[in-house]
Amino acid sequence: MDWVPLNDLGRGLASQRDELITALEEVLDSGYLVMGPQHRAFESELADFVGAPWAIGVASGTDALEIGMRAAMPAGRHGVVTTANAGGYSTVAARRSGYEVRYADVEPGTLCLDVEHLATVLDETVGVVVVTHLYGRAARVDAVRELCAPLGIAVLEDCAQAIGARTSEGVVGSLGDVATFSFYPTKNLGAIGDGGAVTTGSEAIADGARSLRQYGWAGKYTIARDGGGNSRLDELQAAFLRRRLPRVDVLNARRREILAAYRAAADGAVDVLPADGVHHAAHLAVALVDDRTAFVQHLAARMIRTDIHYPIPDHRQPAFRKDYAGIHLPVTERAAARVVSLPLFPELTDDEVGRVCDALAGR
Ligand SMILES: *Cc1c(COP(=O)(O)O)cnc(C)c1O
Repeated sequence: MDWVPLNDLGRGLASQRDELITALEEVLDSGYLVMGPQHRAFESELADFVGAPWAIGVASGTDALEIGMRAAMPAGRHGVVTTANAGGYSTVAARRSGYEVRYADVEPGTLCLDVEHLATVLDETVGVVVVTHLYGRAARVDAVRELCAPLGIAVLEDCAQAIGARTSEGVVGSLGDVATFSFYPTKNLGAIGDGGAVTTGSEAIADGARSLRQYGWAGKYTIARDGGGNSRLDELQAAFLRRRLPRVDVLNARRREILAAYRAAADGAVDVLPADGVHHAAHLAVALVDDRTAFVQHLAARMIRTDIHYPIPDHRQPAFRKDYAGIHLPVTERAAARVVSLPLFPELTDDEVGRVCDALAGR
């Protein structure tokens, strides 16, 4: 018996090998390697998919967060509020930009931003609130906007885990003032390497992001904005992503099907977070357990891999915990000790899904 892997990128790549090689040939034959026709077309196709007027390709999801925050930060402000249970990316991006980071706690049922707690940490220094669609679940962007808009605070959606998730208001990435995506290979839309994007409905934010990703240029060789850098999405990655974007909805449906099977098998004996509709992109299958060590051992004995997303909340990370020593986020801290991720990717076989289901059912 083989291990059930947490993820196996080789299977998806193998199933699309010929198409990806064709994309590579197109790029080689075109002679464009950076910001050429594939890149332009991908930006436009991503904007259409998301339902946002502008999409800007960048080099990674973390760069997208930094560029998106800086492009959306209102003049004279320097505060970013985020959640501390989403892997540290928004904290890293905000700190690199020199912003002051504050944390809001999360809701126990969804582990997404708790809007009531958010209201208690906002003041006139805060310019951007990050809403992470954690594990693929579309968070309550409408409620956050209602709170933030009158205060002049921009809402940034981190869609790295949730591309394709929809709410009654639209697709994630079109719900806030600005949104960010990662195309890291394990994401629901993965490149063959690193990549990211910013989407927005604001022309000013789009212009700011375009300038920041390329040296602060207003146009070629004219640096109009200080603090720019080089964060472009390669032509080759754009060509690959164009071949993969049309499959996202179908693959997300398969992910949801697997997660629903886990939840049904666990039948309340194990608390598996639900992903029962199109509001969820089912990026990760996460269970909440009290005795995590025993649970992981139970699965390992059945040759099932697990991981933890994420074991250390941002405000407890060794690099910067001294700055947040007085901060307590009870729901975040309790969840960090209880979360376990189960195998979840579209190419899992029915047999593998069945083995995870059996283990969850205690068989
Ligand atoms: C993966 C991820 C990122 C960072 O993306 P990279 O492309 O790896 O830089 C940001 N936010 C969330 C929620 C993520 O899952």
